Amino acid sequence: MKVATILGARPQLIKASVVSAEMARRGVDEAIIHTGQHFDDNMSSVFLSEMGVPEPVVNLGIGGGSHGQNTGRMLEQLEAELVRLKPDWVVVYGDTDSTLAGALAAAKLHIPIAHIEAGLRSFNRGMPEEINRVVTDHVATALFTPTDTAIECLRSEGLHGDRVVKSGDVMFDVAIQYGRVSDEQSTIVEKLDLEGVNFILATIHRAENTDDPQRLKAIFGGFGELQRCIVLPLHPRTKSRITTSSITLPPNLRIIDPVGYLDMLALEKNAQLIVTDSGGVQKEAFFHGVPCVTLRDETEWVELVDMGWNRLASPTSADAVVEAIRQTDSGNRKDGQPYGTGNASQIIVDSLLHW
Ligand code: UDP
Repeated sequence: MKVATILGARPQLIKASVVSAEMARRGVDEAIIHTGQHFDDNMSSVFLSEMGVPEPVVNLGIGGGSHGQNTGRMLEQLEAELVRLKPDWVVVYGDTDSTLAGALAAAKLHIPIAHIEAGLRSFNRGMPEEINRVVTDHVATALFTPTDTAIECLRSEGLHGDRVVKSGDVMFDVAIQYGRVSDEQSTIVEKLDLEGVNFILATIHRAENTDDPQRLKAIFGGFGELQRCIVLPLHPRTKSRITTSSITLPPNLRIIDPVGYLDMLALEKNAQLIVTDSGGVQKEAFFHGVPCVTLRDETEWVELVDMGWNRLASPTSADAVVEAIRQTDSGNRKDGQPYGTGNASQIIVDSLLHW
């Protein structure tokens, strides 16, 4: 079986690490096409080298434009690559422009599409990711869902039957497999002098926060009022918006460059609290038993809010940010594991081989 996997953004490289390894174990001939959506070493190459993702057969180098420009340019070039590669399946992950372009290119060439992380919904059509998810799910052949909620969302849109497979969340597989490696290899906690420090780990990158100067100011204003050490690996988009919005960074904030996955896991495990707007980081907080505040109006990972592990807070003012963080330091949390058993990658590859 020949598979073309389309990747472009950091979380997709992370997710592919376990699925690509499983494909290699099962003798699948996989060709990776990198769209170039994320291109910096610390947003892309580090994940290929650290997590053994096979070297892409081509990097299209597309990024930096508007959503429409990027998606259109990717569509054109991906079509040419798929015609050349002639895969039996195209695999796409998540909800980025690379996901959408890959799914559309494959659909128009009548190549079966596997969507990993299908069925997630925020019900906010203002998010670029939501459009990408909905369209991708509706053109996909195989929908691999991480949760029961995702299955319900697909059913409500008329997507059900054999094409929907509950695989569990590949991010859980990744956290288990690389959690052990991180414990052995990461030295970031020592390097940053964080041993014994009650620090908060924060990540902010979602357009609804970075591209709204009011919200961005509220977030950094709230961080400043907390007077606690906050470690923030800074996403390139956030970095550029901080400059253009003339935001003053508070002294309790320790800004660092984006880190590799092994270091990120170590920071997450050692943090007292995680504050984020990232989808992946919300779940990783839960996997490591760390409470989390999500600075968004809604989340696709609703189970964690119901279980008390995640508190949703709209960053409409600095006070709202401070209040959400203070309330989350204590609280009752329910046990459970809504993300499967850590073998999502096996279920996915098995399913593709027997489709
Ligand atoms: N991540 C990382 N280094 C960082 C920040 C995040 O390895 O400096 C990882 C994080 O652990 C998670 C993934 O990147 O696995 C999340 O990616 P991102 O927040 O960019 O996207 P989202 O999950 O919101 O789609």
